[in-house]
Amino acid sequence: MRAVLTTPRARAERQVLAAGRALAARDMVTGTTGNVSVRRGDRIVITPSRTAYATMRRRDLVTVGLDGAVVRGTRSPSRELALHLAIYAARPDARALVHTHTPHATAWSFLDLPLRPRTEEMDYYAIGEIRTSRPAPAGSAALARAAVDVLGDARAVLLGHHGAVTVGADLDEALAIAQAVEHQAHVAWLLRGGDRAAGPLRRSAHVAPAGRRP
Ligand SMILES: [Zn+2]
Repeated sequence: MRAVLTTPRARAERQVLAAGRALAARDMVTGTTGNVSVRRGDRIVITPSRTAYATMRRRDLVTVGLDGAVVRGTRSPSRELALHLAIYAARPDARALVHTHTPHATAWSFLDLPLRPRTEEMDYYAIGEIRTSRPAPAGSAALARAAVDVLGDARAVLLGHHGAVTVGADLDEALAIAQAVEHQAHVAWLLRGGDRAAGPLRRSAHVAPAGRRP
């Protein structure tokens, strides 16, 4: 029987590929947008720039040091590498990051409002307060700084006019939190729409019958 060679690095790379495929399969990104990384010690494995998730291979992934210098791989790292590096630097607890462009979270990122009301998932995953960072060009150092500024000790942040980033102890968790954030944003939008459509009706329902007024 042939033994399968599994090293910690190989496991990390397979996890990044699987998370990327999950993002694409669940429509959490459009095409080759979004990105995924995992941290092992002082190394970060990140998805490459402009590469389809479905056909991405381990050799396409890029390993960088904490300073962003490429130590393994021939492709260009994701253009949001600066964002990933800044969050890992600020959050030693972060072992994996997922960046998505899910529709409801992205829509909410144009509002500059905290993502509320909180659903059960927010507490279940201990996500904390989800705030929105100042809009900045994709891939810029300004975007990375702005995201870290508002992330604080939360496990998710909305990038202004752009999408979401989630922080996990591993990639499974970062991915689950990304789904929870999209769910939360979807619910928040439903409530906004519901408030507008049913506001007057709901208020009228709270008016006591005339004969029972004090
Ligand atoms: Zn993006």
